[in-house]
Amino acid sequence: MHPQAAHAGAILTVDLDALRSNYRLLRKQAGPAACGAAVKADAYGLGAERVGPALAAEGCRHFFVAHLDEGIALRPHLPATAQVFVLHGPPPGTGPEFISHGLTPVLNSLQQIQDWLALAQALQRPLPAIVQVDSGMSRMGLPAAETEAWLADPLYRQTIPPLFLMSHLACAEHQDHPMNASQLARFKALRQRLPQVPASLANSSGIFLGHDYQFDLVRPGAALYGIAPVAGAANPLQPVAALHGRILQTRTIERGDHVGYGISYSATEQRQIATIGVGYADGWLRGMSNRGVVFIDGKAAPMVGTVSMDSITVDVTGIAAERLQAGALVELIGPHRPVDDVARLAGTIGYEILTGLGMRYYREYVGG
Ligand SMILES: *Cc1c(COP(=O)(O)O)cnc(C)c1O
Repeated sequence: MHPQAAHAGAILTVDLDALRSNYRLLRKQAGPAACGAAVKADAYGLGAERVGPALAAEGCRHFFVAHLDEGIALRPHLPATAQVFVLHGPPPGTGPEFISHGLTPVLNSLQQIQDWLALAQALQRPLPAIVQVDSGMSRMGLPAAETEAWLADPLYRQTIPPLFLMSHLACAEHQDHPMNASQLARFKALRQRLPQVPASLANSSGIFLGHDYQFDLVRPGAALYGIAPVAGAANPLQPVAALHGRILQTRTIERGDHVGYGISYSATEQRQIATIGVGYADGWLRGMSNRGVVFIDGKAAPMVGTVSMDSITVDVTGIAAERLQAGALVELIGPHRPVDDVARLAGTIGYEILTGLGMRYYREYVGG
């Protein structure tokens, strides 16, 4: 292990081989559609500079970030043949930076389309882009009236050749949710009016809704990183992230002793307590106070007391003392505790756990 790892309160391990294997599984599932990758939010917290090239090595050529600055940071790490799409489109006045950095916007409103058109006219050349339409989520993309205005004027499509007609699913992880069919119908109706334009609808979960939803390009994010795509079903993906926290110290407490801020835990008998160097500032959510579990050699050690900024306290009663030395590592996310289980306990989703992982970990990349 790298000597720097000894400095950190916890080690975040990212398995690039598992990532690549997940990409291959998703691409196969979506074939013949092209398989892109959502690498926004620093590849869901796992490091876009490492994740991007690993996926490019598997043949991925469509990368999605949310913000312009994410695109600027990622672009130099990808081959020239890869496209970087910025989901939020150009913030007002930033169009020229898309050109200079080789980024392609997803245009989400008539205003963004008009700004991009003005840039194309100023440069006297067509500027391709993705156009996103709202198929029912009311979040991003052209609302119906703006879609009609865009379709009505052929100048838009001559000057801004649409690389993909795109929309996004609201409820795809619930396979029997009626919203899926409703969004698909709205998307297909629009697509019939632009039959020559390639289309993209599915995120990770959308891929598993079947061939109808896959169109020409799928855009998985979460599933690449090992998050389960289908609610209530076995997860076909491999885990990519593991998190191991360090024991800072251990102590014995007696019946009636308390633990942590607000003394939210009190012992009813003698217990052994270990303090681990991960807290809510590292994304280990305070909502897991007295709820979470860590694992030591596969043995569960329940979190007791309130999550602090820089540490948690766990009940290690019954675990061998030689396994509890200062500096020893305990599993917070790993084979015994998949990220989706952590999320469920915390009352959230795996996406929020991964993207919330803090910057203080030592990050170790394996494989790739
Ligand atoms: C984040 C995002 C994705 C990827 O979604 P996952 O559920 O993580 O697969 C795809 N498309 C859009 C528009 C997104 O915002």
